[in-house]
Amino acid sequence: MMEKPVVEGGKPVRQQYLVFGSPEIKQAEIDEVVDSLKSGWLGTGPKVARFEKSFRDYIGCKHATAVNSCTAGMHLSLLVAGIKPGDEVITTPMTFSSTGNVILHCQAKPVFADCEKDTMNIDPKEIERKITPKTKAILPVHLTGRPCNMDEITRIAEEKNLVVIEDAAHAIEASYKGKKIGNISPLTAFSFYVTKNVVCGEGGMVTTNNAEWADSIEKYALHGLSRGAWKRYSDEGFKHYEVVFPGYKYNMMDLQASIGLHQLKRVEENLKKRERIWKKYDKAFEGLPLETPLPAEENTRHARHLYTVLLKLEELKKGRNFIQQALHEEKVGTGIHFISLHLHKIYREMFGFKEQDFPNAKFVSGRTISLPLSPKLTEQDVEDVIQAVTKVVGYYKK
Ligand SMILES: *Cc1c(COP(=O)(O)O)cnc(C)c1O
Repeated sequence: MMEKPVVEGGKPVRQQYLVFGSPEIKQAEIDEVVDSLKSGWLGTGPKVARFEKSFRDYIGCKHATAVNSCTAGMHLSLLVAGIKPGDEVITTPMTFSSTGNVILHCQAKPVFADCEKDTMNIDPKEIERKITPKTKAILPVHLTGRPCNMDEITRIAEEKNLVVIEDAAHAIEASYKGKKIGNISPLTAFSFYVTKNVVCGEGGMVTTNNAEWADSIEKYALHGLSRGAWKRYSDEGFKHYEVVFPGYKYNMMDLQASIGLHQLKRVEENLKKRERIWKKYDKAFEGLPLETPLPAEENTRHARHLYTVLLKLEELKKGRNFIQQALHEEKVGTGIHFISLHLHKIYREMFGFKEQDFPNAKFVSGRTISLPLSPKLTEQDVEDVIQAVTKVVGYYKK
């Protein structure tokens, strides 16, 4: 007899709720934050500088500028790359809202190129179809941590003289054909949001090999004050500054960098943990009516940010939202990455999109579920996720 899900009157797999994307915070982070608090230097200071250096060393790029989110990083990247009102920026609709929003913040037009159905990443052929004389940039997203087809994207950008800005919110550990993500395109933005592979609470980083852009990003992120103005109240004496640009308030605090410094030290160790969980899931879900993630492409490194399955709705009696709710009742939290941007109200209203305009993004939007993959998960947590998915998805198999 098949075990009943909670929604059918059965018993939950777990007693304690498993929160999706809960970060692993260790004593080193706690001590470093306390050290910052005691030092009295809470804002942008020496620890941000240290975190930037560690990040540069990890990526192998020339410049890394810390900001308070990946969203801020992408916004400033577009600005320093010269994106002006009326310009077009090609991106994927299968992404988090901020990837599209930052283009709107520049009063530019987000032009969506549909994703591939299997990798869920932007399809280079669709990018080519969407290029017009107004196109200025391409903003690919390495969804779930799987690198996009950067050979094709770079070729298109070179041919058409476009800037590439990568949304690498999911891809800190990723590399593509031997090259680390963050060291391929002119600008790359990373996220240290609470659910990401390296967390600061909130935070972001822009990497580039262009010194002038790195310098502008630092200024723009702190009101547009002239360089080094963050030191204006240090023991070196008051530093006079000039406002050189009507800037933003996007700077990272030392409190955030305190967390990130130690998180980054464990990033490779955590990747191994994620890989182990990934393999267990792959094996356990064979034969269920769902697609497990594609293997990583040859000669690339997947950052294993999200373990995302696509439900085979044709073989199921219930839809995705129902299945997600049923897992929730089993006390297993999951995520949806993402509902395609063209299906959101603001984009429908601004651009008049219809559901079928991006068939692959629509397909993924209706079937995707991301399962817990934090390095904090215990063996038992992983077993519980497997049991909950097997029970719920198995129960509703046609
Ligand atoms: C999380 C996320 C962002 C935004 O990162 P923040 O640091 O929260 O601004 C951007 N793009 C994608 C794909 C994300 O998942």
